[in-house]
Amino acid sequence: MSRSTGAVAGPAATVTVRVPAKVNVQLGVGGLRTDGFHDLANVFFAVALGDEVRAEAGAPGSGIVLTCEGPDAALVPLDATNLAARAAQLLADRHGLAPDVRLHIAKDIPVAGGMAGGSADGAAALVACDALWGLGTPMADLLALAAELGSDVPFALLGGVALGRGRGELLTPLEVSGSFHWVFATADGGLSTPAVFRECDRLREEAGTGSSDTDVPTPDPSAVLLAALADGDPVALAGALGNDLQAAALSLRPALAACLAAGTEAGALGALVSGSGPTCAFLAKDEQGAQAVAAALIASGTCRTARATVGPVPGAAVVDR
Ligand code: ATP
Repeated sequence: MSRSTGAVAGPAATVTVRVPAKVNVQLGVGGLRTDGFHDLANVFFAVALGDEVRAEAGAPGSGIVLTCEGPDAALVPLDATNLAARAAQLLADRHGLAPDVRLHIAKDIPVAGGMAGGSADGAAALVACDALWGLGTPMADLLALAAELGSDVPFALLGGVALGRGRGELLTPLEVSGSFHWVFATADGGLSTPAVFRECDRLREEAGTGSSDTDVPTPDPSAVLLAALADGDPVALAGALGNDLQAAALSLRPALAACLAAGTEAGALGALVSGSGPTCAFLAKDEQGAQAVAAALIASGTCRTARATVGPVPGAAVVDR
């Protein structure tokens, strides 16, 4: 088994790429722009929970053939709308290649869970097909292709911790010391990201603040949060966690409040909805604390399951070829 970032020479017969899920330690949401997007101050944090995408050369003319395994596999579309298939198609088009590839997704990231699982698979497929076809595409070009696929795809390539501006696709890597211990509580059934943004706009209108980008100031990253990351201080990070979509996710899925409360009662330093939800994220003091919070969450019956993990971890990378 070999490990590389994906910039490998010569085509391969099979390439496996591991890619992380993300949690947004800060998700500041600006007003609705005229193009339908929101300006974000989005601090992405890559965690060790992840998917694997395996790319194998297909017979000439066979096109993209997609398969998926994992607990949520039945929820993953296996047609051309899958982000892994779209990524393979995009890369092939740019290089004038026939996208004859079998893509297999080993799915561990909850589907429609607010952890950017589809985006992760898109990033993994870009890296896997790039290695399979021996293209050696520079990282800057892969990032540009990733941004065409979706706002969260570039971060899945980069990993670590990064600030995303614009729709979230304009990334600046951030300094982090050490590791942070997390617990993720998954829910039955997903939440649609566009529906959660719409609910956020609706709640702002209802509150009388207005929801357009002339009503809502452009969000900025929290200086306290950035310092906590740089210092490797979980207590300070817990105090600075923030998600402007949380109220909207709770409005659409009120049961998440009990999950957040159960994790906090179990000793989590901080709790928040991950991205657009419904996965809930808990920051723990250390590994032992994370295991205790996960066990208490499972016992509470407020989630489908809960898992302790760690981060930050690197972005999509070849683990086997
Ligand atoms: P985000 O956090 O980026 O808003 P999410 O984690 O909430 O996204 P995803 O798991 O990416 O949500 O899935 C959202 C929808 O995308 C799914 O319901 C599914 O229809 C579609 N989709 C496309 N490709 C994939 C994929 N490879 N894995 C999972 N879902 C995919």
